[in-house]
Amino acid sequence: MFTNEYGKLPRGVIMIEDARARFETLKASGMLPSPQGVALAVLELTQKHDANIQTLTHLVQTDPAMSGRILRYANAVHGGSLRHIASLPHAIVFLGLFRVRQIALGFSLIDHYRSGACASFDYLGYWTSSLATGITAQQVSVQAQCPPDESFTCGLLSGIGRLALATVFPSEYDDLLRANLSTLDLREAEIRDFGLDHVALSAELLQDWGLPEIFYQAVRYHEVPADAPFAAGSRAQMLTAALHFSAKVGDLLNLDATQRWEKVPSLFHAAAQIGLEDHQVPPLVEQVVRQWQDWGRELHLPTQDFSDVKLLLGIPPDPSQDDNLAALVVLPMRVALISHNAAHLRGLAETLDAMGLIVEIAGDSHAALRLLDEKRPDVMLVELPDSGDASVATLRELRADEAGRQAYCIALIPPEAEVGVARLMLAGASDYLLLNYSEAALLARISSAQRVVALQGAVRAERESVIRSSGEWARSNRRLLQEALTDSLTKLHNRRYGLDRFAQEWAFAGHSGTSLSCLMLDIDHFKRVNDQYGHDVGDQVLQQIARVIERGCRKDDVAFRYGGEEFCVVCPNTGLRDAVQLGERIVQEVRAGRYGPDKQRFPVTLSIGVATAIAGDRDHEALIERADKALYAAKSAGRNRVMAARGETG
Ligand code: GH3
Ligand code: MG
Ligand code: MG
Repeated sequence: MFTNEYGKLPRGVIMIEDARARFETLKASGMLPSPQGVALAVLELTQKHDANIQTLTHLVQTDPAMSGRILRYANAVHGGSLRHIASLPHAIVFLGLFRVRQIALGFSLIDHYRSGACASFDYLGYWTSSLATGITAQQVSVQAQCPPDESFTCGLLSGIGRLALATVFPSEYDDLLRANLSTLDLREAEIRDFGLDHVALSAELLQDWGLPEIFYQAVRYHEVPADAPFAAGSRAQMLTAALHFSAKVGDLLNLDATQRWEKVPSLFHAAAQIGLEDHQVPPLVEQVVRQWQDWGRELHLPTQDFSDVKLLLGIPPDPSQDDNLAALVVLPMRVALISHNAAHLRGLAETLDAMGLIVEIAGDSHAALRLLDEKRPDVMLVELPDSGDASVATLRELRADEAGRQAYCIALIPPEAEVGVARLMLAGASDYLLLNYSEAALLARISSAQRVVALQGAVRAERESVIRSSGEWARSNRRLLQEALTDSLTKLHNRRYGLDRFAQEWAFAGHSGTSLSCLMLDIDHFKRVNDQYGHDVGDQVLQQIARVIERGCRKDDVAFRYGGEEFCVVCPNTGLRDAVQLGERIVQEVRAGRYGPDKQRFPVTLSIGVATAIAGDRDHEALIERADKALYAAKSAGRNRVMAARGETG
């Protein structure tokens, strides 16, 4: 399905078979990153058919660091909704074999590949950013339509191909990294030099470690989701887009403060593709940052300070509320004059005022700071006696203020200080003017300030418009996603969504030891409705019955259209007796109603089969099968009734 049938391959993409063959060669070299020690044993154990929680617990207990992390992880995902998980066996039961195995895999790789021989590869930076990617992927697992733990592992390891290339080819990869290529050029060069690129290698490694197909396919395409062969709205496509977004957060958090800004618009853009609206992004990233710093400490990874997330991702005010956008074009400019010399202040204020600028004055740096915060000037003109340490300190202090940082800063200095002006520029001055200035010189300085201020305004406006339009895009993507998961006739969830949810509820019931039941519902003699009243009336009846089923369900039940005139209801935390009772209620409600167009309403009945999960069920499909058999029995027994699966008792 994922081979070369879609014509010419995009740049930087290689044939899957070629990547596979190349991977086998690399694997044979024994140099690829791999889990070690206890983690390797865990991986091997959980691949065995007869793996059980007890053996796994004994194995993990031999590694105290891993035990601690598994406990922490269990409590973090468990989110305090129940009691605190205090013991390792309890944590392992809660997480289940599959999750423990993934956690062990991820943490073992972090521990063993913290440094290496490839000089230009930032090993710790790589893991720091991968950790943020994993945490983000976990946070957006709903959008990715995947369980959170798998999303975490998938995000954490989505860039593992880079680490692998740095590990297998340290000096050759060093040469490539030094060239500072764009991502696509880098991938082309990797294919040329190593026979496969880092995304293909990531996908191969994940497959080799036993992750499900959807994950390694999503990893393969997450850097350029547009190249992916997945259907729009499919789970594979949503997971790919979610990883794309997560990797962007990972990148962002690994940049220093000066480089972060330009990444922001594309982050909002990627968020929009998974239906996240602009206002949802900042709290999400803040949440990621908090967890990232916690885990960073735990794993001894150097996470950065991120106190400026709010400022960085600050959402512009809604322009429909007032005319803020017009205010971005800052004409006339507001200029702050800062000087101890009252005569200088007066003279300058008069000249600037005559030029049509709004002038504010401050006699000392204390008053200046207050003025900056209250008036938010576009330009500040600061008089300094020289270029000595005290002057540098004054400038730094003004620049450290948030409003001061954003203003264009002109240092006003005596002519003899011009020799040291470089120090002042380094300390934050944007330009300088000598005290014996001519009016023409002042005008020239002010107009170049004006150009810069206008440019900054335009950049800000552009950034804000990108963010705003991605908000609209997010809404339309969310609508599309909603549509992809809804049955268009009955407006109930469709089969794809229903079965996915069913599988998730199944897994959850397994972990938490709660019961799970399922109802299969089928309208009686529906063919006759079509034959007698026509297909359109049949459609109308389906919609009406769907509403009755929906009304009958409780808050946590998940009702969906299974197909044709059949429906299914998944009932979490529900035993057989309650499920049968729910079925009885629905049967009675349907029986009591009249259906079809207003003028020719007629009775309709339906039959329901009920089953509850029992030990020995392979998966949720086994449950459906038994409910289906019970439904068949209800039909044979005369329809218009509920039957429980054979051998099950309330
Ligand atoms: P039983 O009581 O044994 O379930 O009888 P039945 O007639 O309901 O069952 P059967 O499976 O023989 O027929 C189901 C009918 O439902 C046949 C099909 O045309 C009709 N049907 C399935 N989907 C739709 C739909 O979307 N709209 C309409 N109008 N009819 C549909
Ligand atoms: Mg049927
Ligand atoms: Mg039927």
